[in-house]
Parts: sequence; structure tokens; C-alpha cells
Amino acid sequence: MSKLHNYMEDMVQETYEDLLSQGQKFCGYDKCRLDVLAMVLNQLPAKYVVTQKGTVYTKLQTLNLQFKTDVLKEMVKAMRTVSKKPRH
Ligand SMILES: [Zn+2]
Repeated sequence: MSKLHNYMEDMVQETYEDLLSQGQKFCGYDKCRLDVLAMVLNQLPAKYVVTQKGTVYTKLQTLNLQFKTDVLKEMVKAMRTVSKKPRH
């Protein structure tokens, strides 16, 4: 069965993990992580792709490069905002 999927979600998730593994300091609470992800996703255009069960995205390498910088920029900003007002 085919499904719609917002590829931006993957990008944002991936960028979050990249940033943390590169030593970006951010509180590890799930709540804060999701706050950041939601904030970034609301700032960026959704990129819907049609996926099929088990299908690996092949055409997305270009998208990836094109959006990585934007995602990074928005994410650093969102992390700063969330760190200032953590909801816990
Ligand atoms: Zn936190």
C-alpha cells in the first residue's frame, strides 16, 4: 500500500541526531526534543513523497543537500528557544 510521507520529518530527525552527535549541547528530554522537531517542521515547507512499504527513498539525495542548511539553521534557533524556556 502506498502512503504519503513528509520527508522533511526524516530530515529534521536526522539533523537533530547529527547535531547532538557533533557535540551540540541540548537537554535529552523527549519533550524538548519533540518541541524542537515541531518548531523546525513548522518553519519549513513540508516535502511529501509517496512511499511504499519497504521502499527506500532513492530520489531524495538532492532534496537532502538542498534543505540540509535550512534545517540546520532552523534547528539551532529552535534549540536555543527551547533551552530558554524548557517545559519541565
Ligand atoms: Zn529540556
